[in-house]
Amino acid sequence: MNGLNKEEIFQQQTQYLSEYGKTWTQKTKHKLERCIDYLFEYLSDVSKEPFTVSFSIKGKKYNKTFTPPISIKVSDKLFQSYSCIDYGCSKCCWYVGYYNIFTYNQFSDSVLKYKDEKYDKYVEFASVFVNSSPKQLMIQDHTNSICSHMREQKCMIHEENPIHCAFPLMRVYRVKGTTMITRVPFGRNSRYMKCPVKFEECTQESVDFSIYLLKRLEKFGNEMGIRTRVPEIIEQIENRWLEIKCKTKPLDFKQNI
Ligand code: SF4
Ligand code: SF4
Repeated sequence: MNGLNKEEIFQQQTQYLSEYGKTWTQKTKHKLERCIDYLFEYLSDVSKEPFTVSFSIKGKKYNKTFTPPISIKVSDKLFQSYSCIDYGCSKCCWYVGYYNIFTYNQFSDSVLKYKDEKYDKYVEFASVFVNSSPKQLMIQDHTNSICSHMREQKCMIHEENPIHCAFPLMRVYRVKGTTMITRVPFGRNSRYMKCPVKFEECTQESVDFSIYLLKRLEKFGNEMGIRTRVPEIIEQIENRWLEIKCKTKPLDFKQNI
């Protein structure tokens, strides 16, 4: 895809969608409220305390209480490395239509780091109330188009993209009160999207990347006024990585998560 302009990328991706039996108007689209909900679910999975989130879209009110996990488990699978960029793949960006959601600070960080990107014309604002305190979200709608930050099959704001974009294969989910953090292809990826990623050996880089993502979640929590357990998760990861590196305890990929 290198060297293609936006129109050519659009045509290429329209072709991809048609190979999957879909058009831009028929593709699965996530509603804005669902995207906001996903974002706060990530936070609640590592939070220390319950919190409420309320907002309204087109006159419809949403109000949800998020609860913290009882415990948190990190799987050895998290230590595997992968790179969407190496595969030149960006299906997660366009196969399903959704909204990019940034918090005010995340957006400012992204604008500061990626100065050449054009953001304004695609951005809408939404207010949410977290524990009744107003917070600003910046929203980019790419339910019917290609995300404005994708060029040549790459994300141009990779290190400061929205949190839900950054976590495709670092899976954070909850089972009976325990948050599981692992690295697996999403079900929808393997069944429908045919994610080409092959996980590879554990590297310092893959460990650092996971820690970097968790710190982004922590920053998100700080901005929302929600305390998280990210420091203890990072400590767990660093201790386990030390055991693996020093081979005092071998990797166990047969774990259930
Ligand atoms: S912000 Fe980046 S990762 Fe997210 S949809 Fe756009 S191009 Fe993809
Ligand atoms: S997670 Fe898989 S399907 Fe999604 S962009 Fe990466 S390689 Fe592609």
